[in-house]
Amino acid sequence: MALKETLKISEIFSSIQGESSKVGLPSTFIRLTGCPLRCQYCDTSYAFTGGERISFDEIFSQLKSIGYKDICVTGGEPLAQNETKDFLKKLVALKYHVSLETSGSISINNIDSRVKIVMDIKTPDSGEVSKNNWSNISLMKPTDEFKFVICSDEDYQWSKTILKKYTLHKKSSVLFSPCYDSIKASHLANLILKDRLKVRFQMQLHKILWGNEPGR
Ligand code: SF4
Repeated sequence: MALKETLKISEIFSSIQGESSKVGLPSTFIRLTGCPLRCQYCDTSYAFTGGERISFDEIFSQLKSIGYKDICVTGGEPLAQNETKDFLKKLVALKYHVSLETSGSISINNIDSRVKIVMDIKTPDSGEVSKNNWSNISLMKPTDEFKFVICSDEDYQWSKTILKKYTLHKKSSVLFSPCYDSIKASHLANLILKDRLKVRFQMQLHKILWGNEPGR
């Protein structure tokens, strides 16, 4: 199949959105194959390889039959595929409410402005802090969200420094999320309150509901 208007897809499924300001909304997830990073806590390494090349039209047809308006394009790293930006543009043109989860390592330039970007800032404990593409910060919109997955006290202190250095909360929403099984959630919540940080604390709702198995 020609590459134009196709994407390598790991899975398409419906579930409850577990993260971001859309938490709790029944949504359809499109998980794209491939990621250039190797975060130590990655729970979707099965999407690094494999998958099936599917045409945009076939994906649209599956979305229509599932029926949810909220669509989350995730990975892997969705922007690792050249066709993704074109796909996002077509998806919002079909009136879906689209969010894109990205590692922050690849430029978010030229993404349709109707797409909500949820961009990770990789912390030292992820093992991939060197991959942060800092030039992305100036491209974020007020409707977008920065996400820090925090694994330790050291990660928290580093995240606080980055938050202040780039005044991230003045650009977009900022999410601080405890790394599952690495730091006590209540400890992170207490640190945020103690320091009066202008961030949103979030726990991954889907992990509370279903552990490492996504609900369907
Ligand atoms: S960026 Fe996401 S998909 Fe890629 S290794 Fe890190 S956690 Fe896994």
